[in-house]
Amino acid sequence: MNRSIDATPVSGDVSPLGSDLDSDSSSLLSSPLRAPAPSPAASSSAAAGVPLSAELLAKIERLDARLAAIDARHARVKFASSLAAEDMLLTHAILSRKLGIVIFSLNTGRLHAETVGMFDRVRERYGYEIEQWHPDAAAVEAYVKGNGVNAFYESVDLRKSCCGIRKVEPLNHALAGVEAWVTGQRREQSVTRTELHEEEHDDARGIEKYNPLAEWTETEVWAYLHHFDVPVNPLHARGYPSIGCEPCTRAIRPGEDSRAGRWWWESRDSKECGLHITIVPAEAQSSTLPSA
Ligand code: SF4
Repeated sequence: MNRSIDATPVSGDVSPLGSDLDSDSSSLLSSPLRAPAPSPAASSSAAAGVPLSAELLAKIERLDARLAAIDARHARVKFASSLAAEDMLLTHAILSRKLGIVIFSLNTGRLHAETVGMFDRVRERYGYEIEQWHPDAAAVEAYVKGNGVNAFYESVDLRKSCCGIRKVEPLNHALAGVEAWVTGQRREQSVTRTELHEEEHDDARGIEKYNPLAEWTETEVWAYLHHFDVPVNPLHARGYPSIGCEPCTRAIRPGEDSRAGRWWWESRDSKECGLHITIVPAEAQSSTLPSA
């Protein structure tokens, strides 16, 4: 059985983060359900780290407002974190505002030790236990017995089969019963994400899907992380902009696509694991969420 091994604390258990959270952006928020926590962006001049441009400060305000509105709109909403840079940004944004969005991660059993270590770093920094969802042990055993422990190198089908067992199935269990989920995907990450929308409908699951960082650049992501001193996966400093399972991720070379190190032996247009499929843009529908 897929299962979460760690209970998620209520959002009120999150540790306070300091003086950079003291100002208020409530004028941007429309939630009638929860009072917004102070925005970390508005008092940025008092925060440690690299100064932020006015443009990025405004973008952070919009992100905070959007996350608060998503939280208010849905009774049960989860954020799928890979523990990579974009997801640590969203983790900080969610936890520093004490939003009710539950953070979970897919612990595939093939992650780098550095990535697994991020669970501890989040707990130490925010006092928050990220939900961990594991693959079905019997399915993993059958795959390994039938195909070999690293069979994903042999064909796209075997790779997708492994991703199905270790990622997609656990994701389906993690999202059972929720109304919406949030991801840290960005358009510029890959040729497979250039059409990414900020708000979509996940047709397969019948729930909403939000990509609030869709239009953020890599430079903006790192400016945020440095400014708020957010913990980051040490693999980033070793040339891994995108982080997945250890045997399927390598460091990239200068000028390469940020996802070039994922399944590098495959063609560029097959570089997704099946987590982000069946996308139907919802922007044609009227949205009441603040635009990011
Ligand atoms: S990324 Fe690689 S090891 Fe991880 S689930 Fe997919 S094929 Fe398997």
